Amino acid sequence: MALIVFDPATHLMLALLCIGLIAYLIWLFSKFSSAQRDHEKQMITAKVQIEKLSEEREAMARELSQLGRYGNLLHGCTDLAEILQVSQQLLAQLLPGSAGTIYPLIDGEGLAEATHLWGIHVGNTKMQAHHRDCWALQRKRVHLSHSDAPGSACAHIELPEGLDVLSSACIPLTAQGESLGWLYLSTSGHGSFPKLSVAIAAAEQLALALANLKLRQHLRDLSVRDPLTGLFNRRYLTESLGREMARCRRRKLPLSVMVLDLDHFKIFNDTLGHQAGDSLLVAFSRMLQGSVRNEDIACRLGGEEFILIMPEMDQEIATRRATELLESTRKLEVMHEGQMLPQITTSIGIAVFPDHSNEPDQLIGASDSALYQAKRTGRDRYAVAERLVVEKVPAV
Ligand code: GH3
Ligand code: MG
Ligand code: MG
Repeated sequence: MALIVFDPATHLMLALLCIGLIAYLIWLFSKFSSAQRDHEKQMITAKVQIEKLSEEREAMARELSQLGRYGNLLHGCTDLAEILQVSQQLLAQLLPGSAGTIYPLIDGEGLAEATHLWGIHVGNTKMQAHHRDCWALQRKRVHLSHSDAPGSACAHIELPEGLDVLSSACIPLTAQGESLGWLYLSTSGHGSFPKLSVAIAAAEQLALALANLKLRQHLRDLSVRDPLTGLFNRRYLTESLGREMARCRRRKLPLSVMVLDLDHFKIFNDTLGHQAGDSLLVAFSRMLQGSVRNEDIACRLGGEEFILIMPEMDQEIATRRATELLESTRKLEVMHEGQMLPQITTSIGIAVFPDHSNEPDQLIGASDSALYQAKRTGRDRYAVAERLVVEKVPAV
């Protein structure tokens, strides 16, 4: 067997080659393990991101379901009080990081009343405000303000000195092109306003519910109100008289009915014109509505005839009220096209449940008869219906 013998130089070269190879392998291994470490790090970051995304998705799904529930509940609300009550509860859940106040416009003149709020606002907020007090309503878009930026806060927010940093968002409640109020939200601290997109989506639902309610009220008014005077119409009278009489019967209380007819209105109309007559009818109706209690029902029967239903009112009080109405009619001052219209008078017929009748139609009939009695005896006065005469059946 032949033995290969290297000279020392070749030995050295082979040794160096081996060392180089080992170094290369070590380098290759360390590179591989650092790549693996990087990969593991990336995997951990991706996992954290996926978890965060899925948490965000879950939170979004929760918010969407809460928004859906809010919309459904609003759908079932039949009046403003219910809408505000539901909104107060659900908005507090939907927007946990902020305090809120709903400002629904309560009249045609831009006045809003804050009856429903949740959480604690950093600054005070006015209980009554005008739409001019809110930038969101003026500009018809979301208004964000910060106590660090002087002048940016709306006038309905009161910021005392030395206050925590206050961030606020006012969201207009607008639907079908109509302003219906605004939603005011506040939170303490800097940074972007929390859950603003959720708040905007909720405000859209709230505005839609307010617009629907307004439309429903308007449609109902069209069916039960007289268009000229705004008083209830004959249809509403028929609906409500039976109901009110039944209520008074159950509670063993009286109910008075008063029929009013303007005196010589034909002459008034013929000499001054139909328009002047209409102005007078409107002014007389306003006076009637202003003179009755909340529980009374004022209706226009047609032409210059009106009726008042006054639950729980006996004859003595009814006659006193009739005297006051005669006086108010005489004193009624009406301007039409820059001219003061002449004085008018009215005649009134009174009938009282149960003294004059137990039936709605007969009670109105009795007050009508009393009205003609008042007309026959000179007008500008009241007359009370004849008492029911209960005839005794003769004993056989
Ligand atoms: P009396 O004292 O007996 O009640 O006499 P009167 O003239 O008030 O009664 P009459 O029934 O003769 O006339 C009622 C008039 O009311 C007739 C009509 O010109 C007027 N009238 C009815 N409806 C309206 C209305 O909507 N607008 C106006 N301007 N006038 C009306
Ligand atoms: Mg008349
Ligand atoms: Mg008449």
